[in-house]
Amino acid sequence: MALGEFDLIERYFKRPSVSRALSPSRNTPHADVALGIGDDCALLQPRPGTQLAISSDMLVEGRHFFPDVDPATLGHKALAVNLSDLAACGAKPLAFTLALALPRVDEPWLAAFSRGLFALADAHGCTLIGGDTTQGPLNICITIFGEVPVVAGKSQALLRSGARASDDLYVSGTLGDARLALDALCGTIQLPAEVLAQARHRLEQPTPRVALGLALRGIATAAIDVSDGLLGDLGHILKASQCGATLDTSSAIQLIASRGIESWLSGRFDIEKKLQNQLNWVLAGGDDYELLFTAPASAQAAVMQAARSSATPVTRIGRMDAEIGLRLVDTNGQPVSGQFASFDHFA
Ligand code: ADP
Ligand code: MG
Repeated sequence: MALGEFDLIERYFKRPSVSRALSPSRNTPHADVALGIGDDCALLQPRPGTQLAISSDMLVEGRHFFPDVDPATLGHKALAVNLSDLAACGAKPLAFTLALALPRVDEPWLAAFSRGLFALADAHGCTLIGGDTTQGPLNICITIFGEVPVVAGKSQALLRSGARASDDLYVSGTLGDARLALDALCGTIQLPAEVLAQARHRLEQPTPRVALGLALRGIATAAIDVSDGLLGDLGHILKASQCGATLDTSSAIQLIASRGIESWLSGRFDIEKKLQNQLNWVLAGGDDYELLFTAPASAQAAVMQAARSSATPVTRIGRMDAEIGLRLVDTNGQPVSGQFASFDHFA
Protein backbone atom coordinates (compact mmCIF):
# COMPACT_ATOMS: atom_id res chain seq x y z
CA MET A 1 0.00 0.00 0.00
CA ALA A 2 1.26 3.45 -0.87
CA LEU A 3 2.55 5.60 1.94
CA GLY A 4 0.14 8.32 3.15
CA GLU A 5 1.03 12.00 3.49
CA PHE A 6 1.71 11.93 7.23
CA ASP A 7 3.69 8.68 7.18
CA LEU A 8 5.73 10.11 4.33
CA ILE A 9 6.63 13.22 6.37
CA GLU A 10 7.38 11.08 9.40
CA ARG A 11 9.58 8.66 7.48
CA TYR A 12 11.56 11.00 5.24
CA PHE A 13 11.52 14.46 6.76
CA LYS A 14 11.02 14.31 10.52
CA ARG A 15 14.22 13.53 12.35
CA PRO A 16 15.07 12.94 16.01
CA SER A 17 17.78 15.61 15.89
CA VAL A 18 15.03 18.26 15.81
CA SER A 19 13.79 17.30 19.25
CA ARG A 20 17.32 17.73 20.63
CA ALA A 21 17.02 21.36 19.61
CA LEU A 22 14.00 21.56 21.93
CA SER A 23 16.13 21.10 25.02
CA PRO A 24 16.04 24.44 26.86
CA SER A 25 19.29 23.64 28.66
CA ARG A 26 21.29 23.40 25.46
CA ASN A 27 23.74 26.25 25.23
CA THR A 28 23.02 27.17 21.63
CA PRO A 29 25.41 29.27 19.60
CA HIS A 30 22.55 30.85 17.64
CA ALA A 31 18.80 31.33 17.56
CA ASP A 32 17.03 28.22 18.73
CA VAL A 33 14.41 26.06 17.11
CA ALA A 34 11.88 26.18 19.95
CA LEU A 35 9.47 23.89 18.09
CA GLY A 36 10.07 21.81 14.97
CA ILE A 37 7.89 19.58 12.77
CA GLY A 38 4.52 18.40 14.07
CA ASP A 39 2.36 21.34 15.07
CA ASP A 40 0.59 24.04 13.06
CA CYS A 41 3.61 26.33 13.23
CA ALA A 42 7.28 25.91 13.98
CA LEU A 43 8.72 28.33 16.54
CA LEU A 44 12.07 30.08 16.22
CA GLN A 45 13.59 31.99 19.11
CA PRO A 46 15.92 34.71 17.75
CA ARG A 47 18.65 35.76 20.16
CA PRO A 48 18.52 39.32 21.47
CA GLY A 49 20.51 41.65 19.22
CA THR A 50 19.89 39.63 16.07
CA GLN A 51 17.65 39.82 13.02
CA LEU A 52 16.17 36.92 11.07
CA ALA A 53 17.21 36.80 7.41
CA ILE A 54 14.53 34.99 5.35
CA SER A 55 14.58 33.81 1.75
CA SER A 56 12.58 31.43 -0.49
CA ASP A 57 13.55 29.64 -3.67
CA MET A 58 11.45 27.33 -5.78
CA LEU A 59 12.70 24.59 -8.11
CA VAL A 60 10.30 23.44 -10.83
CA GLU A 61 10.77 20.30 -12.90
CA GLY A 62 11.53 21.06 -16.54
CA ARG A 63 12.40 24.62 -15.63
CA HIS A 64 15.22 24.28 -13.08
CA PHE A 65 16.11 20.60 -13.41
CA PHE A 66 15.69 17.67 -15.80
CA PRO A 67 13.00 15.09 -14.90
CA ASP A 68 15.64 12.32 -14.66
CA VAL A 69 18.06 14.23 -12.40
CA ASP A 70 19.57 12.24 -9.52
CA PRO A 71 17.20 12.92 -6.56
CA ALA A 72 20.11 13.11 -4.08
CA THR A 73 21.71 15.95 -6.04
CA LEU A 74 18.29 17.59 -6.35
CA GLY A 75 17.89 17.54 -2.56
CA HIS A 76 21.34 19.12 -2.26
CA LYS A 77 20.64 21.79 -4.85
CA ALA A 78 17.20 22.75 -3.50
CA LEU A 79 18.81 23.67 -0.18
CA ALA A 80 22.08 24.97 -1.66
CA VAL A 81 20.35 27.73 -3.64
CA ASN A 82 18.64 28.90 -0.45
CA LEU A 83 21.83 28.73 1.62
CA SER A 84 23.46 30.79 -1.11
CA ASP A 85 20.96 33.61 -0.48
CA LEU A 86 21.83 33.59 3.22
CA ALA A 87 25.53 33.63 2.29
CA ALA A 88 24.99 36.69 0.12
CA CYS A 89 23.47 38.46 3.13
CA GLY A 90 26.19 37.35 5.52
CA ALA A 91 23.57 35.41 7.50
CA LYS A 92 24.21 32.29 9.55
CA PRO A 93 21.87 29.41 8.60
CA LEU A 94 19.38 28.36 11.29
CA ALA A 95 16.42 26.49 9.87
CA PHE A 96 14.29 25.90 6.78
CA THR A 97 10.86 24.76 5.68
CA LEU A 98 10.17 22.48 2.71
CA ALA A 99 7.04 22.68 0.56
CA LEU A 100 6.95 19.71 -1.74
CA ALA A 101 4.58 18.75 -4.57
CA LEU A 102 5.11 15.15 -5.66
CA PRO A 103 3.44 13.44 -8.64
CA ARG A 104 3.43 10.11 -6.72
CA VAL A 105 4.94 8.47 -3.67
CA ASP A 106 8.22 7.03 -4.93
CA GLU A 107 10.07 5.79 -1.86
CA PRO A 108 13.53 5.25 -3.40
CA TRP A 109 13.26 8.78 -4.84
CA LEU A 110 12.22 10.22 -1.46
CA ALA A 111 15.00 8.36 0.36
CA ALA A 112 17.66 9.72 -2.00
CA PHE A 113 16.19 13.23 -2.06
CA SER A 114 16.09 13.49 1.73
CA ARG A 115 19.61 12.02 1.99
CA GLY A 116 21.01 14.73 -0.31
CA LEU A 117 19.00 17.41 1.46
CA PHE A 118 20.01 16.46 5.00
CA ALA A 119 23.68 15.92 4.15
CA LEU A 120 23.94 19.59 3.21
CA ALA A 121 21.60 20.73 6.01
CA ASP A 122 23.75 18.95 8.60
CA ALA A 123 26.95 20.38 7.15
CA HIS A 124 25.52 23.84 7.85
CA GLY A 125 23.70 23.10 11.12
CA CYS A 126 20.42 24.04 9.43
CA THR A 127 17.30 22.30 10.78
CA LEU A 128 14.19 21.30 8.81
CA ILE A 129 11.38 22.74 10.96
CA GLY A 130 8.28 22.23 8.83
CA GLY A 131 6.71 22.41 5.42
CA ASP A 132 3.85 21.16 3.34
CA THR A 133 3.39 18.06 1.22
CA THR A 134 0.92 17.75 -1.62
CA GLN A 135 0.28 15.75 -4.79
CA GLY A 136 1.10 17.57 -8.02
CA PRO A 137 3.78 18.18 -10.67
CA LEU A 138 7.22 17.93 -9.01
CA ASN A 139 7.97 21.24 -7.34
CA ILE A 140 10.27 22.01 -4.42
CA CYS A 141 10.03 25.24 -2.49
CA ILE A 142 12.31 25.95 0.46
CA THR A 143 12.12 28.91 2.79
CA ILE A 144 15.26 29.43 4.82
CA PHE A 145 15.90 31.37 8.01
CA GLY A 146 19.24 32.78 9.06
CA GLU A 147 20.63 35.06 11.72
CA VAL A 148 22.37 38.41 11.34
CA PRO A 149 23.72 40.41 14.28
CA VAL A 150 22.67 43.99 14.93
CA VAL A 151 25.59 46.03 16.27
CA ALA A 152 24.98 49.46 17.81
CA GLY A 153 21.53 49.50 16.24
CA LYS A 154 22.90 48.67 12.81
CA SER A 155 22.21 45.42 10.93
CA GLN A 156 25.36 43.60 9.84
CA ALA A 157 23.55 42.11 6.82
CA LEU A 158 25.36 42.47 3.48
CA LEU A 159 23.07 44.25 1.04
CA ARG A 160 23.14 45.01 -2.67
CA SER A 161 23.01 48.72 -2.03
CA GLY A 162 26.27 49.48 -0.23
CA ALA A 163 28.82 49.61 -3.09
CA ARG A 164 30.70 52.89 -3.61
CA ALA A 165 32.68 54.27 -6.56
CA SER A 166 36.31 53.02 -6.49
CA ASP A 167 35.42 49.90 -4.46
CA ASP A 168 37.03 46.72 -5.80
CA LEU A 169 34.74 44.07 -7.31
CA TYR A 170 35.35 40.42 -6.37
CA VAL A 171 33.84 37.05 -7.12
CA SER A 172 34.32 33.77 -5.25
CA GLY A 173 35.16 30.37 -6.69
CA THR A 174 34.49 29.48 -10.31
CA LEU A 175 32.14 30.73 -13.01
CA GLY A 176 30.59 29.36 -16.18
CA ASP A 177 30.82 25.62 -15.53
CA ALA A 178 27.13 25.19 -14.71
CA ARG A 179 26.16 26.77 -18.01
CA LEU A 180 28.73 24.71 -19.84
CA ALA A 181 27.09 21.58 -18.43
CA LEU A 182 23.62 22.83 -19.29
CA ASP A 183 24.64 23.45 -22.91
CA ALA A 184 26.10 19.94 -23.08
CA LEU A 185 23.05 18.29 -21.47
CA CYS A 186 20.76 20.19 -23.87
CA GLY A 187 22.86 18.89 -26.78
CA THR A 188 24.09 22.31 -27.97
CA ILE A 189 27.69 21.18 -27.56
CA GLN A 190 29.35 17.75 -27.28
CA LEU A 191 31.87 17.68 -24.44
CA PRO A 192 34.33 14.88 -23.62
CA ALA A 193 32.94 12.78 -20.76
CA GLU A 194 35.51 13.91 -18.18
CA VAL A 195 34.95 17.61 -18.92
CA LEU A 196 31.18 17.14 -18.71
CA ALA A 197 31.48 15.29 -15.39
CA GLN A 198 33.28 18.24 -13.76
CA ALA A 199 30.94 20.82 -15.21
CA ARG A 200 27.90 18.77 -14.30
CA HIS A 201 29.00 18.57 -10.70
CA ARG A 202 28.98 22.38 -10.57
CA LEU A 203 25.50 22.47 -12.12
CA GLU A 204 23.95 19.82 -9.92
CA GLN A 205 25.80 20.29 -6.64
CA PRO A 206 26.72 23.94 -6.22
CA THR A 207 28.64 24.94 -3.08
CA PRO A 208 26.89 27.72 -1.15
CA ARG A 209 29.54 30.17 0.07
CA VAL A 210 28.19 30.49 3.58
CA ALA A 211 31.53 30.69 5.41
CA LEU A 212 32.76 33.42 3.07
CA GLY A 213 29.56 35.43 3.51
CA LEU A 214 29.99 35.32 7.27
CA ALA A 215 33.69 36.24 7.03
CA LEU A 216 32.84 39.25 4.84
CA ARG A 217 30.55 40.90 7.39
CA GLY A 218 31.98 44.29 8.23
CA ILE A 219 34.35 44.10 5.22
CA ALA A 220 32.23 43.88 2.04
CA THR A 221 30.19 46.96 1.17
CA ALA A 222 27.71 45.07 -1.06
CA ALA A 223 27.09 41.44 -2.01
CA ILE A 224 24.82 39.23 -4.12
CA ASP A 225 24.93 35.59 -5.12
CA VAL A 226 25.35 34.81 -8.81
CA SER A 227 22.27 32.81 -9.76
CA ASP A 228 21.07 34.38 -13.01
CA GLY A 229 24.49 35.21 -14.51
CA LEU A 230 27.36 37.48 -13.52
CA LEU A 231 26.31 40.48 -15.61
CA GLY A 232 22.67 40.40 -14.59
CA ASP A 233 23.46 40.01 -10.92
CA LEU A 234 26.14 42.70 -11.06
CA GLY A 235 23.46 44.87 -12.64
CA HIS A 236 21.40 44.48 -9.44
CA ILE A 237 24.31 45.79 -7.34
CA LEU A 238 24.85 48.70 -9.74
CA LYS A 239 21.19 49.65 -9.64
CA ALA A 240 20.81 49.33 -5.88
CA SER A 241 24.11 51.14 -5.22
CA GLN A 242 23.59 53.75 -7.94
CA CYS A 243 27.05 53.41 -9.42
CA GLY A 244 28.76 51.84 -12.44
CA ALA A 245 31.56 49.29 -12.88
CA THR A 246 34.45 48.27 -15.09
CA LEU A 247 34.78 44.51 -15.36
CA ASP A 248 38.00 42.81 -16.47
CA THR A 249 36.64 39.98 -18.64
CA SER A 250 40.08 38.35 -19.01
CA SER A 251 40.27 37.67 -15.26
CA ALA A 252 36.65 36.46 -15.26
CA ILE A 253 37.11 33.90 -18.05
CA GLN A 254 40.03 32.33 -16.13
CA LEU A 255 37.43 31.21 -13.61
CA ILE A 256 35.98 28.35 -15.65
CA ALA A 257 37.04 25.40 -13.53
CA SER A 258 36.38 22.39 -15.74
CA ARG A 259 39.80 21.12 -16.77
CA GLY A 260 40.21 20.31 -20.43
CA ILE A 261 37.74 22.91 -21.64
CA GLU A 262 40.53 25.22 -22.81
CA SER A 263 42.06 22.66 -25.17
CA TRP A 264 38.62 21.42 -26.25
CA LEU A 265 37.71 24.98 -27.29
CA SER A 266 41.07 25.58 -28.98
CA GLY A 267 40.63 22.44 -31.04
CA ARG A 268 37.26 23.57 -32.36
CA PHE A 269 37.09 27.32 -32.68
CA ASP A 270 39.19 30.23 -33.86
CA ILE A 271 40.37 32.66 -31.17
CA GLU A 272 37.44 35.01 -31.61
CA LYS A 273 34.76 32.30 -31.41
CA LYS A 274 36.50 30.60 -28.49
CA LEU A 275 36.48 33.88 -26.58
CA GLN A 276 32.81 34.47 -27.33
CA ASN A 277 31.96 31.03 -25.91
CA GLN A 278 33.99 31.62 -22.76
CA LEU A 279 32.52 35.07 -22.25
CA ASN A 280 29.01 33.77 -22.71
CA TRP A 281 29.40 30.98 -20.15
CA VAL A 282 31.10 33.19 -17.58
CA LEU A 283 29.19 36.44 -17.99
CA ALA A 284 25.71 35.20 -18.76
CA GLY A 285 25.72 31.57 -17.67
CA GLY A 286 23.94 31.53 -14.35
CA ASP A 287 23.50 28.80 -11.72
CA ASP A 288 27.00 29.52 -10.37
CA TYR A 289 25.98 30.34 -6.76
CA GLU A 290 29.19 32.24 -6.15
CA LEU A 291 29.34 35.48 -4.18
CA LEU A 292 29.85 38.70 -6.11
CA PHE A 293 30.85 41.48 -3.74
CA THR A 294 32.51 44.85 -3.37
CA ALA A 295 34.95 46.24 -0.80
CA PRO A 296 37.05 49.38 -0.51
CA ALA A 297 40.62 49.13 -1.85
CA SER A 298 41.81 49.70 1.74
CA ALA A 299 40.10 46.42 2.74
CA GLN A 300 41.96 44.25 0.23
CA ALA A 301 44.04 42.46 2.87
CA ALA A 302 40.92 41.85 4.96
CA VAL A 303 39.12 40.37 1.92
CA MET A 304 42.03 38.00 1.28
CA GLN A 305 42.07 37.03 4.96
CA ALA A 306 38.30 36.31 4.78
CA ALA A 307 38.96 34.15 1.71
CA ARG A 308 41.69 32.22 3.57
CA SER A 309 39.73 31.80 6.80
CA SER A 310 36.72 30.47 4.87
CA ALA A 311 38.89 28.37 2.53
CA THR A 312 37.16 29.98 -0.45
CA PRO A 313 39.05 31.29 -3.47
CA VAL A 314 38.31 34.92 -4.27
CA THR A 315 39.33 36.84 -7.42
CA ARG A 316 39.25 40.56 -8.04
CA ILE A 317 37.47 41.08 -11.37
CA GLY A 318 36.89 44.80 -11.55
CA ARG A 319 36.19 48.14 -9.97
CA MET A 320 33.15 50.23 -9.19
CA ASP A 321 32.86 53.61 -10.93
CA ALA A 322 30.98 56.83 -10.26
CA GLU A 323 29.96 56.80 -13.93
CA ILE A 324 26.70 54.83 -14.30
CA GLY A 325 26.77 51.75 -16.56
CA LEU A 326 28.87 48.64 -17.00
CA ARG A 327 32.07 48.65 -19.06
CA LEU A 328 33.61 45.34 -20.14
CA VAL A 329 37.35 45.48 -20.80
CA ASP A 330 40.15 43.04 -21.66
CA THR A 331 43.59 42.70 -20.03
CA ASN A 332 44.77 45.85 -21.76
CA GLY A 333 41.76 47.88 -20.69
CA GLN A 334 40.33 47.77 -24.23
CA PRO A 335 36.52 47.55 -24.57
CA VAL A 336 35.06 44.07 -25.14
CA SER A 337 31.89 43.88 -27.18
CA GLY A 338 29.12 41.33 -27.30
CA GLN A 339 25.52 40.75 -26.32
CA PHE A 340 25.19 38.86 -23.06
CA ALA A 341 21.71 38.26 -21.72
CA SER A 342 21.23 37.09 -18.16
CA PHE A 343 18.54 34.63 -17.32
CA ASP A 344 15.04 36.03 -16.95
CA HIS A 345 12.11 33.60 -16.57
CA PHE A 346 9.71 35.89 -18.40
CA ALA A 347 12.01 37.38 -21.04
P1 ADP B 1 -1.08 21.80 8.33
O1 ADP B 1 -2.29 20.96 8.06
O2 ADP B 1 -1.16 22.60 9.56
O3 ADP B 1 -0.63 22.54 7.10
P2 ADP B 1 0.35 19.48 7.77
O4 ADP B 1 -0.62 18.47 8.18
O5 ADP B 1 0.46 19.86 6.35
O6 ADP B 1 0.08 20.77 8.64
O7 ADP B 1 1.79 19.08 8.25
C1 ADP B 1 1.98 18.47 9.50
C2 ADP B 1 3.34 18.84 10.03
O8 ADP B 1 4.33 18.33 9.15
C3 ADP B 1 3.57 20.34 10.12
O9 ADP B 1 4.37 20.60 11.26
C4 ADP B 1 4.31 20.66 8.86
O10 ADP B 1 5.15 21.78 9.03
C5 ADP B 1 5.13 19.39 8.65
N1 ADP B 1 5.42 19.10 7.25
C6 ADP B 1 4.57 18.89 6.23
N2 ADP B 1 5.22 18.63 5.09
C7 ADP B 1 6.54 18.68 5.38
C8 ADP B 1 7.73 18.50 4.63
N3 ADP B 1 7.72 18.23 3.31
N4 ADP B 1 8.90 18.64 5.28
C9 ADP B 1 8.93 18.94 6.58
N5 ADP B 1 7.86 19.10 7.34
C10 ADP B 1 6.67 18.97 6.76
MG1 MG C 1 -0.30 21.59 5.39
